[in-house]
Amino acid sequence: MNNEEIQELIAQQVKSAKLLIHRDLELTRANEQLRSLDKMKTDFISVATHQLRTPLSAIRWTLSMILKEDIGPLTMEQRTLLMKAYESNNRMVKLLGDILLSDHIESNSLKPTDETTKIPELIENLLLELIPLANHRGVRIVFNHPDPTYPSLQIDPTHMRAVMQNLLENAMKYSRTDGTVTLNVFTELPNMRFTVIDSGIGIPQEQQKTIFKRFFRATNAIKVETDGSGLGLYIVKSIIEKNHGTIFFESKENEGTTFVITLPIAKT
Ligand code: ADP
Repeated sequence: MNNEEIQELIAQQVKSAKLLIHRDLELTRANEQLRSLDKMKTDFISVATHQLRTPLSAIRWTLSMILKEDIGPLTMEQRTLLMKAYESNNRMVKLLGDILLSDHIESNSLKPTDETTKIPELIENLLLELIPLANHRGVRIVFNHPDPTYPSLQIDPTHMRAVMQNLLENAMKYSRTDGTVTLNVFTELPNMRFTVIDSGIGIPQEQQKTIFKRFFRATNAIKVETDGSGLGLYIVKSIIEKNHGTIFFESKENEGTTFVITLPIAKT
């Protein structure tokens, strides 16, 4: 290689290095832009969901006053219509909660806390709220908690509530009329084990691997239930795993589904 060729090679290398630095700067800028857009999206979701919750709470409060007949007796027809409005309002509150939680998970801001949760109290309270849905679906819920006492769980109560609500509502939504949903809770040191069993539509074998993906809904579920976001199981799995628990399921189409979760007991 003569001197000229060496000079040419060096010039080319300098050019390539400059190009690389330029690309690197461009990528850094694009990355910053994406981060800022992502933060704007998270802020928007947070503000929008919180702002929407306030009027929804007011509607809920007004409807429950009318339903309790605080301002006068209701006819059967009026009661039925108002109950429908009340349930739709509740569904909207739940959906907003799921959107908020899912965004927290996506932005990695869902952290395990030092809080603990009391079982079976939390589930008993939740079941009271699920009575209207169970009645509407014609589904019976059986809650077995055979141990004489239960230690607390190492999980934030609002997160545990979201887990149980999603699993139980799914079991009811995808049950058949006259079906039974059974929830069992056992202590299996150092964990607590929950099983949610239904004998509903089941999950088609070929779609089982995608069931925890955000927004995924199985084809048979979409047919029987138009109302669904596909956020529930994604939230459940993320919360369970953040709290060092495990989740799995067994399901057969047209026969039913069993979800099994374990969560660590709080250290005393
Ligand atoms: P959603 O219920 O809003 O559609 P989820 O994330 O809670 O969303 O569930 C995702 C999908 O998993 C459902 O659409 C349904 O196909 C399936 N699935 C969940 N639980 C059950 C169940 N107990 N029985 C049958 N299918 C279920």
